[in-house]
Amino acid sequence: MPRPIVATVHPEAIRTNLVRARLSAGDARLWAVVKANAYGHGIERVFDAMRSADGFALLDLDEAQRVRQLGWRGPVLLLEGAFELRDLELCSRLGLWHVVHCNEQIDMLATHKTQVPHRVFLKMNTGMNRLGFRPAPFRAAWMRLNALPQVEEISLMTHFSDADRPTPGHAAVADQVAAFVAATHDLPGERSLCNSAALLRHAQAGLTQSGSAGQSTSHAPLTADWVRPGIAVYGGAPDHPHATSAGWGLQPAMTLASQLIAVQEVLPGEAVGYGSTFRAERPIRIGVVACGYADGYPRHAPTGTPVLVGGVLTRVVGRVSMDMLTVDLGPPDDRHASHGQPVYGPGTEVVLWGRSRTGTVLPVDEVAAAAGTIGYELLCAVAPRVKFA
Ligand SMILES: *Cc1c(COP(=O)(O)O)cnc(C)c1O
Repeated sequence: MPRPIVATVHPEAIRTNLVRARLSAGDARLWAVVKANAYGHGIERVFDAMRSADGFALLDLDEAQRVRQLGWRGPVLLLEGAFELRDLELCSRLGLWHVVHCNEQIDMLATHKTQVPHRVFLKMNTGMNRLGFRPAPFRAAWMRLNALPQVEEISLMTHFSDADRPTPGHAAVADQVAAFVAATHDLPGERSLCNSAALLRHAQAGLTQSGSAGQSTSHAPLTADWVRPGIAVYGGAPDHPHATSAGWGLQPAMTLASQLIAVQEVLPGEAVGYGSTFRAERPIRIGVVACGYADGYPRHAPTGTPVLVGGVLTRVVGRVSMDMLTVDLGPPDDRHASHGQPVYGPGTEVVLWGRSRTGTVLPVDEVAAAAGTIGYELLCAVAPRVKFA
């Protein structure tokens, strides 16, 4: 028998989450963001459930090819654009749309020989300071692109740095929107601004046109022409702990589950695991789970990190090791079915995150928060040795 750790993707959850995202998106078209192999879920595993998306956004050319191989003829957007001239040939061949965020990419386009002019998303840096042209040089970049025969259509985009928090995050979103609108209000083309956090938290807000002294002349929705949700589609809250996935009506698209492979009765004063970081104060049953950091579970998850055993919420205790972690099964006298609970032993289901067979959900965001990270990282980090059901 293989090790009992298994990841399961839930297509019906993805469908539900897409419907939920559309609810906030108004009339905007929706890029399902499937970078990082669909946030660790596997592009091939999620594709069918995502057919209702208007396009797929990603950044590996290899992943773009896989989306085409799955038969997708609609829009595919490369979020970091081309890395070298050869990439543009693939864009022409596969009809990929691509971000243009720097002058070097415009130079590349200018030397690219193609019969098929490209659709590009010109990216503005409105404060994230990662990719894109600052508002001042943005127009010059747009003019250069607009003059190229290699370019068919220019869309405009930016990315929010602080959409996942209440104030001052809200102020930052408004500032970024203002910078974007001020620099683009008289440029033609479609617009795209929102990631999951902006879509869920701020989509009601208007894209206000820069006018004199704060006089808004337009209230186009922030969702604009295209939204770009990623984590929400996979059922994670982009803004945990300020909100929860359940609060947003999202369902987990991945369950990482394993089983107990041993149970130990530990006496007061005895310790559990490497470094003896957990020491029992009273008699306690410890469940040993076939899941460790070599499976992608965070080693930093401290004692107290939530975990579901037999569908019941309990906690990780002691240090996570490479292939195992240990959980609190309560006092030894609690082992009988006194609360209708089964006796826990080897074979009992353990859910590291996602949905238990009993229906109980442990959001990946809560596990991540306990381990000092975000759900995104845990989903992306499921190790290759973990089989998907
Ligand atoms: C990853 C990414 C997104 C999606 O972000 P989420 O927080 O997962 O919704 C949107 N836009 C760009 C440019 C991205 O890189």
